[in-house]
Formats: sequence, structure tokens, C-alpha cells
Amino acid sequence: MKFASEFRDPAAARALLSAVAAKAEAIGASRANPVRIMEICGGHTHSIFRYGLDKLIHEGVEFIHGPGCPVCVLPMARVDECVEIAERPGVIFTTFGDAMRVPGHRKSLMQAKADGADIRMVYSPLDALELARRNPDRQVVFFGLGFETTTPSTALSIQQAAREGVTNFSVFCNHITVPEPIRALLDDPDMLLDGFIGPGHVSMVIGIRPYDFIARDYGKPIVVAGFEPTDLLQSALMLLTQIAEGRAQVENQYARVVPEHGNPVSLAAIADVYERRPSFEWRGLGEIDASGLRIRARYAAFDAEEKFGIGYGAASRNHPETPGCACGQVMTGKLRPTGCPQFGTGCTPDKPLGALMVSSEGACAAYWQYAGARVAAQ
Ligand code: SF4
Repeated sequence: MKFASEFRDPAAARALLSAVAAKAEAIGASRANPVRIMEICGGHTHSIFRYGLDKLIHEGVEFIHGPGCPVCVLPMARVDECVEIAERPGVIFTTFGDAMRVPGHRKSLMQAKADGADIRMVYSPLDALELARRNPDRQVVFFGLGFETTTPSTALSIQQAAREGVTNFSVFCNHITVPEPIRALLDDPDMLLDGFIGPGHVSMVIGIRPYDFIARDYGKPIVVAGFEPTDLLQSALMLLTQIAEGRAQVENQYARVVPEHGNPVSLAAIADVYERRPSFEWRGLGEIDASGLRIRARYAAFDAEEKFGIGYGAASRNHPETPGCACGQVMTGKLRPTGCPQFGTGCTPDKPLGALMVSSEGACAAYWQYAGARVAAQ
């Protein structure tokens, strides 16, 4: 296949749906006793809803939406710290657009901007670095947020700033990693999962081998998948086939993009610039060992935590979430977005209560955008 349209071919999708149905029935999966597949990545959640795969697929296959949206899992206390930095005199705070409306305890970055803070949306950390070059009398801070997909570009920007000797550029680092929360989910006795659809973009960087523990230690299959409808259906079929054959392996459906051992240039940049934090707090999942990255001491001059005296300490974590918000339960697949009492009433995209309704990758936003009419009709 060469073109995106080939991955959206209705005949190919119908054939895969039939194959999935046959496999599901062969292993006795039913609505009452479904195979529970977690798609870790928020991009996959959106594809599933955009193409209606949750409704088209055999009733014995249930998609569980995982914690793979970096904006959604950021604790509110870290948003508070962003606001605190952004409101300092002389600071230009830069961020991807997704993070602008995420609620903090006091205010969101959008509200801080309305109150006068100089907060600007950028498309890349290199845009922030360029702002620093053009504004030598200001401190330009980039909100480093995201999984292994975005981590390399932040690392490369820091390396570039170091090479140029730029002294007014820094990164507020909130980069996180994917394998560790999967382990946390597997260790949760309430999580009854039969397999995983692995993230496509993250795996472009890290490859597929970091997922070996899922099959080896927990006996669960995982298939790294692309984002088109036939990618997801083929991945579901590969998972069901493993289950039917009693196998648990790491398989790569997205081999046209994902190399087995990842991208060596990106991995080298990550290793040069970052080290693991002992632990990091995830909204809805709590503290997870070694799941967050911080900037190494040799790049301390580019670390906003160092520059502004905001370390990752007690103030950064364990803050209560918004009352009535069920984001944590939705994020861990224990509740569907429509099961949250705030969905569509207290929480809408226009007035989000939780991050899952803000981010373009959030499960609640996906339900609202693609299944809103369906849900409203139920
Ligand atoms: S509907 Fe809103 S409050 Fe409820 S889980 Fe989703 S984002 Fe959180």
C-alpha cells in the first residue's frame, strides 16, 4: 500500500471486520465476556471514534482507552507551576496549543494570558529558541510536555541552544515515558486487560523492544499499530490471533514506519539531555517510578526548574483534582467518558472541567467530537 486512501478502503475494512468477528467467535468472546483491548495512545482513541470502529467491530471486542495523552495525565499542580513561571516579570512562556486551556487550581495558561502574562503558542521548541534569539532581554521558557514522540525535539533544541550559547532559553520539563505506566496498569488488580494496541508515534522513536516485558512478565500480547482504520482493525485481528493461539508477543503492525530498535539519532539526543526522575505523578495513576524525565546537570542552564527555583518537589504533586471530575477513572479505563456525571453538562469542550475534554487526544473530547450525537440519542 502506498497512499492513505488505501488504508481507508471500505472493502479492506469490511474483510478485516469479518476476520475479527470470526476470530472473536472462535475464542468465545461476546458482549458479556469481551476481549478487552487497551489502546494506549490518544491518537488511536480518536481514530477509533472518527471511523466508528467501536461500533463496527464485533461486540465481543471492547476498546479501553488508555492514558496516552500527555496533556491529560499532567497533574494540575504542574499547570499551577507553569502559570507561576509565566507570571514572572520578563518571562515569555511558550507552549503547544493543547496545553493552553488545561485547568490549574488557580487558572489555566489561557486565563493567565488574559490576565496579562506573555504566553505564546508555538509549533516547536525551535520556535521558542528563535524567540529567545530575538528577545535577548527576556527569559523565554518552553513548556516541554509529551511522550517520547516530542522528547527528542526538545532535547535537540537544548543542544542547539548550548552550542550557540543562548542564555535566555530554558525548558520546563514534563516529558514522560510510555512503558512505565503500562507496567503500572498491569500491576493494578482492578485492570482486566487482554492485550494492548501499542502507540505508533512513540514507537517510531523507541522501537518495539521496550514493550518486551508486557509479553514476557505479564503474558499479554501487544501490537504496535498505525492510525488508519485498517491499521487498527488489522492490529485487533493480530491480537485476537495471538490470544486464540495462546501466544503473548510484541508484534509490529506499523512496520512501514516503526523500526524495531527505534530512531538512533533521537535516542542519542534523549540520552544526552535527560535522565530519569525517581518518580513522577500522573493524573489518575498517581506516582509511577522512573516515568518522568528531567534535564541532566550538564544542561542545568537550560532547565527552568533550576532557573526559576521550581523543583519537582512536594508542591508539584498530590494536589486534589477538581471535585466531581472523573478523569482518573476514565484515564485508567475503569469508566467510559459518558459515565462521568459531568460529561456534557458540567464539562464540555467550550467549558472543560478536566484535561480529557481539553486535549485533542483526550478520550472525553473524542467521545464528544465523534460520538456526541450518538451519545445524546442514547
Ligand atoms: S467529562 Fe470532563 S470531568 Fe468527566 S472525566 Fe471527562 S474531562 Fe474529566
